[in-house]
Amino acid sequence: MPRYTSYPTVPFWKDSIDLTQWEQNFRTRFSEENHVNGISIYIHLPFCESLCTYCGCNKKITTNHKVENEYLLAIEKEWLLYRKLMKQTPVIRELHLGGGTPTFFSPGNLRHLLNIIFKSSIIHPFHEFSIEGHPNNTTTEHLKMLYSLGFRRISYGVQDNDPEVQKIINRIQPFENVKKATENARAIGFTSVNFDLIYGLPLQTVESINRTINQVISLKPDRIAFYSYAHVPWASKAQRLFDESHLPSAEEKIQLYVAGKKMLMKNGYADIGMDHFALPTDDLYRAWKEGRLHRNFMGYTTQYSGLLLGLGVSSISDTGNAFAQNQKALHDYYASINNDKLAIKKGYFLSEEDQAFRKYILDISCKGQTQFLKEHTSALQQHVFPKLDELARDGLIVWNEKEIRLTEQGHYFMRNVCAAFDLYLKNSAAMNQVFSKAI
Ligand code: SF4
Repeated sequence: MPRYTSYPTVPFWKDSIDLTQWEQNFRTRFSEENHVNGISIYIHLPFCESLCTYCGCNKKITTNHKVENEYLLAIEKEWLLYRKLMKQTPVIRELHLGGGTPTFFSPGNLRHLLNIIFKSSIIHPFHEFSIEGHPNNTTTEHLKMLYSLGFRRISYGVQDNDPEVQKIINRIQPFENVKKATENARAIGFTSVNFDLIYGLPLQTVESINRTINQVISLKPDRIAFYSYAHVPWASKAQRLFDESHLPSAEEKIQLYVAGKKMLMKNGYADIGMDHFALPTDDLYRAWKEGRLHRNFMGYTTQYSGLLLGLGVSSISDTGNAFAQNQKALHDYYASINNDKLAIKKGYFLSEEDQAFRKYILDISCKGQTQFLKEHTSALQQHVFPKLDELARDGLIVWNEKEIRLTEQGHYFMRNVCAAFDLYLKNSAAMNQVFSKAI
């Protein structure tokens, strides 16, 4: 089921978009947003030294660190291509380094990249800079350099601590490494240390999940993303290495989630929604409570910027009324950029109706409620209200012709409620599937 980091969701985007139209859209939206909210930047750093067999990310496995220079040069060129579309100095409000493994890159190379971006930008006074770190290779030098440039949040991919699970997913990562990386980040001054965990991996049991969570909460991560493993061997070759008999059944997977969630909540974590848990001392929790939560391709965020620029292979940009995704293969990405052309592969320009329904979905996932606009009454009556009746009968929402609100139980079925507003699913078999899972 979609996580609705975009609407329409990626499968409904066009396979190619007009580059001139995209550049014009970016130019206009940048001018509208830059001095009001600032902009967000996501940089995809795709290299990893070894393959985790569960992984569905866009990554390139190599131990040859010479690849760093060529890649950083391409990002620099891409940034300069976008910089030409910006008629004012960009104000950076949010920046996230994701991957792949961003900490594959040496601290010196990362510093070089960030300096190139920062030297022609203004840093917003309430900026939030964050990075995905691998507990095995995030060094004190990395952390000190990032801290000196304004990074205060780091997310570590922990996934599972059980040695047998780690062996089968080819991610050997002793808990000692997680502990050291966490303590180092805190000692240097990072104020939010986040962990990613996964349920549904091969050989996981309720006991092993409980052991993992027990261990990780001893480090009090500020946020935990507790993701469901998506087994898609037809799309991810590495997942074909699993003996499928080692995977939990659908029922066992639910038990893993329920056990994990119970333990997190017993230990003071609040369920923000869409697999995210946070301690009440974390900004994300406060933003959720105060109705200030936002959502973009990087997940939940406390910062609002109406324009997200994605740099690097496979990155997605979002201008608020258009999406564009870069080429997914490195050689295609390099070929465009080295030809002084943006490396856009696919995307979507949103209609007014798309934008309105996107807002409904964002409101529900960030605030648990939304108000309907009169001009959409006909589309709502035809496609959405019948589904709301079903959701209300199941106790997941309360609604009338003006607004909808999630109930406490509905909070846990947020994606299903969002799917009711997805007009692209309205006639498809996928819709029935979504609803049969909810009820
Ligand atoms: S899970 Fe992370 S570290 Fe492992 S292969 Fe995927 S991107 Fe690389």
